[in-house]
Formats: sequence, structure tokens, C-alpha cells
Amino acid sequence: MVVVWGLENCFMQRKEKRADDIAIYIEDKEYIANNYVMNCFSVTMLVYAVAFILNILGIFVIDQSLMLQAFFPSLFIYVVVFVITRFVSLSATWVKYFILSSIVLVFTITGVFITYHVVLVSLLPFLYATLYSSKRIMSYVYVLTVFSTIIIVYGGYYMGLCDANMVLLTSGSVQNYVMDGSFVLSQVNSNPLLNLMLFFVVPRCLIFVAVMSVCNSLFDIVSGSLEKAKLTAELEKAKTEAENANQAKSQFLAKMSHEIRTPINAIMGMNEMILRESSESSVQEYAVDVKESAAMLLSIVNEILDSSKIESGMMEIVPVEYQIGSLLNDLYNMVSIKAQEKKLELIFDVEPEIPSGYLGDDKRIRQVLLNILTNAVKYTEKGTVTLKVRCRKEGENAILLFSVRDTGIGIRQEDIGKIYDAFQRFDASRNRNVEGSGLGMTIVQQILALMDSELQIRSEYERGSEFFFELKQKIVDPLSVGNFRERLHQAKRISDYRTPFTAPDARVLVVDDYRMNLKVFRNLLKGTKMQIIEAESGRECLNLLETNAFDIIFLDHMMPGMDGIEVLHEMRERKLCEKVPVVMLTANAIVSDRENYLKEGFADFLSKPIVPAKLDKVLLRLLPQQLIIKDGGTVDAYQAPDYQELQERLPEINVHAGLKTCSGDAEFYWELLQDFSQLSIKEELNGYWETKDNKNYCIRIHGFKNNAYSIGAMELGDLAYKMEKMSGENLPDELMSMQMSLFEQYDRICYIYQEITKEKRNAL
Ligand code: ADP
Repeated sequence: MVVVWGLENCFMQRKEKRADDIAIYIEDKEYIANNYVMNCFSVTMLVYAVAFILNILGIFVIDQSLMLQAFFPSLFIYVVVFVITRFVSLSATWVKYFILSSIVLVFTITGVFITYHVVLVSLLPFLYATLYSSKRIMSYVYVLTVFSTIIIVYGGYYMGLCDANMVLLTSGSVQNYVMDGSFVLSQVNSNPLLNLMLFFVVPRCLIFVAVMSVCNSLFDIVSGSLEKAKLTAELEKAKTEAENANQAKSQFLAKMSHEIRTPINAIMGMNEMILRESSESSVQEYAVDVKESAAMLLSIVNEILDSSKIESGMMEIVPVEYQIGSLLNDLYNMVSIKAQEKKLELIFDVEPEIPSGYLGDDKRIRQVLLNILTNAVKYTEKGTVTLKVRCRKEGENAILLFSVRDTGIGIRQEDIGKIYDAFQRFDASRNRNVEGSGLGMTIVQQILALMDSELQIRSEYERGSEFFFELKQKIVDPLSVGNFRERLHQAKRISDYRTPFTAPDARVLVVDDYRMNLKVFRNLLKGTKMQIIEAESGRECLNLLETNAFDIIFLDHMMPGMDGIEVLHEMRERKLCEKVPVVMLTANAIVSDRENYLKEGFADFLSKPIVPAKLDKVLLRLLPQQLIIKDGGTVDAYQAPDYQELQERLPEINVHAGLKTCSGDAEFYWELLQDFSQLSIKEELNGYWETKDNKNYCIRIHGFKNNAYSIGAMELGDLAYKMEKMSGENLPDELMSMQMSLFEQYDRICYIYQEITKEKRNAL
């Protein structure tokens, strides 16, 4: 039985286990120790077993005393080890010592000499294997022992020394067959052919089998280590790929924030112009649609950015003092329009006794509540959406309980747990027309976790849901919030940003390397009649500041040469316009941390796309009050000339697309073209090329790309985009030929533009 198992172990299992072996080889030392110790013993036992069977069959009679001395102790050890390895791991230290001491004990009790074969073949490998639990060491030792067996057998024959294998196969004592120190074959048995078979063929076959088994093990080891190396390399590769992918994701998001938010800025800004200036109701309706879609797009972009921000640990909770009343007002204003559209009743049930001022991150609380409230409105067809705010005092802190209850479609019990998984949306068929990315609740949950809170959900399918959470906030103003509804009406009157103000004496400096943004900015403030002075770089801004006075300055963040923060630092160092408030403008949402900008010395921060209400608010807050005249005048609309001619003469420009950027405002488009033709792009790029300044080269070409796209020069924009990509790390030579082609296309556009202008001027 034991022998059959041993055989199986040696030759059958190995094949099946090979795949497993490789994995186990790396990690599971227990398996290695147990399995290979048994293999080793199995081959040894095979040798003895054959001799034993031969003996039983009477083919050859083994010396009984030798049988006892060599075979049985070995068999005993084998069985002990076999039993032990079935139940315990050889890699446990106490087992090793237990087995080793048992072996020593057994050998001592048997008392007689144990042939060195037994010691070598059985004991040593076992010792090594148990001590080191290593397949590799085990196999080396086994190879050595099998080879030593061969040497011993051969040596025994040629040198007249006797080996256990030989002795086992003979009858009588060893001395009978040794004469004058040499082994006498003819003395062993009267039948030399049989002796030959027994002494040479059978043992060698057995040894051959053993050697094959060892070779097999060796092959396993080699292929195992190759496999291991391969696995390690693959893991290494996968790790690098994962890291690269993650980095690419972050870069993509950072880029996306800039790339997508900038054109949305243009869309929203221009659309705002249409809303303010157009008196046609159908145009107004379209503009409202555009506004909604752009806002939706922006909210999706923001959600993705937020979730990546949280993921990379970049989102921080920044506690500031805030008034819960104003937070709730804002929320009401934001949600009530949608609720009204759906004829839902929006109730803000705020306990009048709750303290009004707290220390906490109002921006994030607002974000959380807005998400939950928007969902409640989104997923409710009729009935009410109720926000309940309650408070429990704990010393100087308040535990605020926010609960949003709706009478909407509800969520199935089995789906409630999945709501926090990113991009999870339920009831696909029912919610087909409801916009959403499935990220909202994930972000809510993550933000709440940052504030040591947790979102709880109770829902009844088709009856409605309740989302609630508790927040611990430090009370900074214990005055009670009072009747919220009354405050709400008050706030509504104050926050009506559409009431324009004028400030004709106010001088505003706007700095942005992207002309289009300057235009959007100028147009947004057209109604205020302020004097708007533009600068396209930090340097130009500083030069203007040396000789001019301003009442407020708006600085873009990302600009070639000096960025917004550097410009502000230099302004402060050189004591230029020291008392003038400087507001940061940025499209880069990833780094748009208001607090960071405030720390840098900015008076405020506006994220692009610029929300007109926010811009107005900032101006009303920061401009010297004596300059502001509430109640502004109306704004003149532009006249649109015919652009057919330009399109015919410049087929590489998509005039239609360019006009779209300008919301169809042809005069504005013509101005853009003029600006475009006056760019000093050639000198700048050549300069950066010469100084090998790839960073500024990349920034400049990035800006130029946007300029090209905004006038509808798509091909030129694409070429600039390729060049921007290439110049990310260095300035390769092939960039030169692209640059030449870029200049050619640019020159052609400028030339045609100037020709048309000249002709028009002459025609007047
Ligand atoms: P989405 O952008 O799709 O609204 P959310 O993460 O905000 O993503 O919500 C995930 C899903 O949870 C939604 O798609 C919707 O199926 C379900 N859900 C969220 N809020 C409500 C609610 N108030 N009533 C019913 N279902 C809701």
C-alpha cells in the first residue's frame, strides 16, 4: 500500500500537481516539505520493497538480520513520517524536532549499525527537508544521495566494499562474499546469470527509476523557478502598467478639467450674453436649454473630478465659520426651481431653536445635501420633498440631524446596499430619462466619511425614501436660527443677482493668456459699464500696474511665463497696487482649492466657467462701495456682418464653428480673428525653441491651440494639439517641421484676413 502510494506520489501526482506546484513553490513551504520528503522516502522504499518481494517469491533470500537492521527501521521511519505528514506540517518547528528526536530514538533502540545507505538516502534528505522546508535543497540532497548510491554500488563491486543494497540481495553474511578485500561475485550464488540480474540489472533499473524521478524533480525546480521568474516579471509588468494607468488617469483628469471646463466657460459665458441681451422668447428658450445642458455637463465633470480627488486623498475638510441659515437658503434656491418645474412641494422644516453659526466645511455639507435633495427631486414624480434639520446639543458642540424624505419611486431593499458603489444606477428602464452618472451617492458617502459621519437610507419601493445623517459641528454662534421661511424670502430678495449694477468709474484689470476668456469676461461685465483693461501675460500685467491704478484685478492661474500666483507674489514684493483686491480665475478644478488661493494672498477665487452671479457677488463685495451704482442700464446687441466671403477664401477655417464659439455674434468673431492675426506666436515659439524651454513652449502652443479652435481653424488646432503633446517632455527635432507647417497655415489665415479687411476699408 505504502509503496503503491509512494509510486503514485513519484510519478502520477507530479504531473497533475505541476501547475499547482509552481504557485505553491513560491509560497507554500509546508506542501514542499511534506510532499518531497515523501517522494524521497518512496524511492528508497521501492528499492527495499523489490528486494522484499524477491525474497518472498523465493527468487532470492535476503539475510534476515540485515533485513531487520536495514529494512524494518527504514520502513518504520517511513510509516511514521507518512502518518505525521498526513496530519501535521513539517514546517512547524516543534514537529521537526519531534521527528528528528524520534528518528534518533528509533535508531538507537535498533542499536545496530544502520547502513550508510539508509542514512544517506532516507535520513539526510529528510533532515534537510524538515530543517529547511525547501524543495530546492531537498532535491539537491536527493540527487547527491542517489548518485552516491550508484557510486557505492559500483564502488562496492569494483573496490570490494559492500553496500546495503548488495547485501540485501544476497543470502548469508557480508563476509562470505568478500575475499582479500574484494567482492566475489561467484560466491554470492551458484547461478551467475541470476546474480547478474539481481546485482546489476535490477538495482540499476531501480536506481535509474530513482534518477529519473530526481531528474523530474529537477525539471520541476528549473521550470518552477523559470515560471517564478516569469510570474515575477509579469507581476512587475502588471504593477508598472497599473501605476502608469493610474498616473494616466490623474493626468487625464487634470487635463480634462482644464480642457473641458475652458470651453464650457465659453459656452456658459456666451449663453449668459444671449439670456441677458436677447429679447426673442424662442432664442431665450434655446439659451435656457443650453444653460441647463452646460450646467449638467459641468456637474458631471465636477463629480468625476471630485471622486478622483477623494480617491487620491486630495479632498480635505476645511472647517470655516458658517451660518446654517445661508447654507439652507442657497440650497433652497438651487433646488426649488427644479421642484417647481415638477410641481413638487419642497419643504424645509428647520427647527427654529437650532444655533445659527457653526465651525465646519459648509462647502462640503452643501454639496452633500444638494446631491441628496437633487436626487429626491429627480426620482419623485409627485408629492413632496422634505428637508428636516434637527439639533441635539452636546456641550459646545451640536449634533445636527439632516433628513431628506421624498414620496418618489423608492429603492428596492436589495439595491440599498449597492447605492454607494460608483456608477451604480437602479431601475434602468424606469430611470432611462433621468440624467445621472451614478457617482453622486458615492461622493456623498465618501465626503460624510471624511466628516466622521455616515449616510443612512430607509426606503420603500414605489412609496418613497429617506436619506439621513448626523454631523457633529462646533457651535460658534448660539443665537437660534429662527423662522427659516421668513429668512428665505428675505434672502431671495437680496440674492437676485440679475439686478444689474453699474460702476462706470471702476477700473478693472483682467489678466488671461487666452483672449477668448478675456472676451467672455468683458462681455459678462458689459452691463456694469466698468472700465475693463486687459493684459495677456503676467509681465504685461506688472507693466500696467507700474503706471496705472485699478480698483480690482482678476488674474488667471495658468499662464505662460509667470503664472497667476507668481504675478501676485511679485506684485506684493514690488508693492504694486498693494491695497487692491486680486481675484484668482482658474479652470483647473483639481487645484482649485479656495483656501489655498486665499492663503497665497488672493482676496477671492472664481472657478471657470465663471458664474455671473458669483462674479457679481465678488465685485459687489470687493469693489469700493462708493463706485457702485445699483440699478444698471441695458446692453447693446452686436450687428452681424456677412461672413460668406471669408469662408470662401479660407476653406481651411470652419467659419460656422468659429461663429458658434461666439454665440453667433459675428462682430465678436471678427474681433477674435483680428486678435488671432496679431498673435506673436512665431516669435514666442522660436524663442522657446532656441532656449530649449519645452515647458513654456508647451503652454504657449496649448494656448494657441485654443485660439485656433475658437476661430474655427480646426486643422490648425489639431496640429497645435499634436505639437503640444510632443513638447510635453522635450523638444524633438520632428517638431520643427510641424512648427514650420503651423506657421505657414497661420500666415495664410492672417494674410487673407488682412486682405479682406483692406478691401473692406478701401470700399468704404
Ligand atoms: P445618479 O447620478 O444616477 O442619480 P446617485 O449616486 O446619486 O447617481 O444615485 C445612485 C442611484 O440610486 C440612482 O441612479 C437611483 O437609482 C438611486 N437613488 C438615489 N436617490 C434616490 C431617491 N431619492 N429615490 C429613489 N432612488 C434613488
